[in-house]
Amino acid sequence: MFSRIAEKYLPALVVAGVVFFAAVIGIYSRHFGQLAQIWPANALLLWLMITYSRFARMSGWLGACAGYLLAGWVMGDTLLINVWLGAANLAGVCVGYVLFKALKGDSEGLIGPKSVLYLLLVCSGAAGASAAVGTGLSMPLPGSTAWSRFILWFSSELNRHLVLLPVCFAGREWFSRQRLPHWRSIFAIRNVNAAPVGSLAASVGLAAITGGPGAIAFPVPALLWCALSYTVLPLCLIVLVFNATVMGMVEAGLLNFDQMNQRTGVIVSFRLGLSFLVLGPLTVTAIMTTQRALVERLNQSVTWDSLTKVLSRQAYLERSLSLIAKDVPRSGSGIAILMLDIDHFKRINDTYGHFIGDNALMAVADAMSSILAEGQICGRLGGEEFALTISARTPEEATCLAEQIRLAVEKISIPLNENTFIQMTVSIGVAFQRLTKNLKLRVLLAQADAALYLAKANGRNRIELSSTVSGQRSVNAAPPL
Ligand code: GH3
Ligand code: MG
Ligand code: MG
Repeated sequence: MFSRIAEKYLPALVVAGVVFFAAVIGIYSRHFGQLAQIWPANALLLWLMITYSRFARMSGWLGACAGYLLAGWVMGDTLLINVWLGAANLAGVCVGYVLFKALKGDSEGLIGPKSVLYLLLVCSGAAGASAAVGTGLSMPLPGSTAWSRFILWFSSELNRHLVLLPVCFAGREWFSRQRLPHWRSIFAIRNVNAAPVGSLAASVGLAAITGGPGAIAFPVPALLWCALSYTVLPLCLIVLVFNATVMGMVEAGLLNFDQMNQRTGVIVSFRLGLSFLVLGPLTVTAIMTTQRALVERLNQSVTWDSLTKVLSRQAYLERSLSLIAKDVPRSGSGIAILMLDIDHFKRINDTYGHFIGDNALMAVADAMSSILAEGQICGRLGGEEFALTISARTPEEATCLAEQIRLAVEKISIPLNENTFIQMTVSIGVAFQRLTKNLKLRVLLAQADAALYLAKANGRNRIELSSTVSGQRSVNAAPPL
């Protein structure tokens, strides 16, 4: 009962609450006889409607109406102004929402160069619609003609949408990716490269000192540097703060715009110029996001074997080398390599086909991975051959792990039908060396390979310790397949 009421009315209440608070903040920022300086309500509402389908219902839109009207009423707007401004705001959000749904594609979030074009179209549509409705309300608005009222409203609304919507999209995307331990990384400020944002601050300062119409272009290189250096959310926040700072500087009479403040054309030109200026870094970050995702995918496929999900040969060798390098300073420890080869694997392929052979390879890799502890490295060297690199104090420690793996593989049973199950065994060669500066991975690999060869020769499904380890021994096992 309660949950049904909550489901029905909660979205409308949330929308009304968000719009009310954002609109009250906006109305506070109004100068006498002017539009609000800060007006986050429309961009926030548009983002809510686009992102959460549960808000974009009749109840959600009614909640938005209530939010606008309540805020105007609380802040003392007359009924006519309140209803008119509310209608203008809602018209903008509705058009933005319809345009977004029509364009859709990858424009949710800032991924790919097209997303910025979509963003511009959606924001222009939203700003144009609210300005068109709002222009009719001549009395309290600045601007002597309908056109100047329209273009003043349009330019400020476009600018707000262009800087606020990316922050909302990127913020949601960022929050959805966070896991609890990652939250600590927010405070890892020391690792952040402060030079790009520092240069942006310096160029804004230089613009303030120099002033004039060209000053707005001073921060362009620093903005692009920021876009190349930071991920999407920090970049969008930097753009937002930059935009607000430059707007504030013009308001305060810096940048030598003050004597021109009365000229609608100059103000509109400045706002549109600033809006197009911020599109530059947003475009770069959108392209960079696609690039980073591609590099990440490439990195994944180079690092991990696509079939068995253990490390690829190259990544296995690299990580083994760095494990040896890392462990060298620790005395009294050693490194062991376990080289595994599935026994008579060709028979499985020949009898049941390659698809079943692939399943068998995956099952062996899963069995190994479930036994390994953190820091133990496992890779596919090729075909049905795997290798493991582990830190071990004694050769016995390594043969003990090898025996665990051998038994785990023996237990694998892949059902073909009700009566047929595929079973496998592995042979394992183990090499062990005390850690010294002269320890060579390729030497250890060759020793493990020789031990594996011996295990095959001695009947398979068994473990052989490399003859280079003093007190050589073998762990015998069940008869071969
Ligand atoms: P031994 O006990 O001496 O190791 O015998 P074996 O049959 O396992 O050895 P052999 O090297 O003759 O055969 C290995 C087979 O592994 C041959 C190849 O077709 C198969 N193989 C290699 N890579 C894959 C793969 O990715 N999928 C499948 N299904 N088979 C593979
Ligand atoms: Mg083989
Ligand atoms: Mg084999």
